[in-house]
Amino acid sequence: MLDLTGKNALVTGIANNRSIAWGIAQQLHQAGANLGVTYLPDEKGRFEKKVRELVEPLNPSIFLPCDVQNEPQIEEGFQTIAAQWGKLDILIHCLAFANKEDLSGEFSATSREGFTQALEISSYSLTRLAKAAKPLMNEGGSIVTLTYLGGVKVIPNYNVMGIAKSALEMSVRYLAAELGPKNIRVNAISAGPIRTLASSAVGGILDMIHHVEQVAPLRRTVTQTEVGNTAAFLCSDLASGITGQIIYVDAGYEIMGM
Ligand code: NDP
Repeated sequence: MLDLTGKNALVTGIANNRSIAWGIAQQLHQAGANLGVTYLPDEKGRFEKKVRELVEPLNPSIFLPCDVQNEPQIEEGFQTIAAQWGKLDILIHCLAFANKEDLSGEFSATSREGFTQALEISSYSLTRLAKAAKPLMNEGGSIVTLTYLGGVKVIPNYNVMGIAKSALEMSVRYLAAELGPKNIRVNAISAGPIRTLASSAVGGILDMIHHVEQVAPLRRTVTQTEVGNTAAFLCSDLASGITGQIIYVDAGYEIMGM
């Protein structure tokens, strides 16, 4: 049975009720996990208020700001987790960012700053958070990140985010190899396109979704709940033999050649 009772799970990347991380948090909660939630702080505190209200029904015992570009914030956050929880069992890395102008048009036009920022936020952050989580995963653990087919194949307009996802997927493998002896498993879910704040920045996302609905074996896209169910599975003992993998939750689209 899928049971996460007694497990402490930190979920990053909830922006609103469309976020994939929100689907994951709900499924982890349903499986009995004790939740911690991070949000990206803004100057006016609007994101904090919005995310706090959204996650309230899941009773998170930790609620923290975490901008993955902010070193002191990461350190403070994990100190709080160490003090309050003592151990961490599950880390959900569900965030990404690239400038809107770098998510359409010619890939060769990507700016140096845009490239660096996209890779730092969307790829390096997994390694940084895994480093912080490692000493707290003293009873083993599970780290799950979110990727997309655009990291493996060319998808129009995905551009610099494809490079970031490619680096992210390879990071999953290096982290899995390093952390495996501590019984920490690291996997990625490659989700099919879902309408969210982040995906709306990708040029032509609606056409992409429409195409998937016509071509994918299941003739539809996937939901946040389906991704959340797979994440809960990967975090549970049912997946104890799985690490370093990219699991496609995409209604089968990835297998199609045409
Ligand atoms: P959301 O916009 O809901 O989530 C993206 C999250 O990343 C937001 O919470 C955002 O915060 C956060 N974020 C951005 N920059 C930072 C930062 N510097 N520090 C901390 N958090 C940050 O979109 P999704 O749910 O779609 O995205 C979640 C993950 O799923 C991403 O990795 C995405 O690439 C991946 N994915 C999405 C697919 C899709 O079609 N939607 C398909 C496959 C993978 P805020 O909004 O407050 O700025």
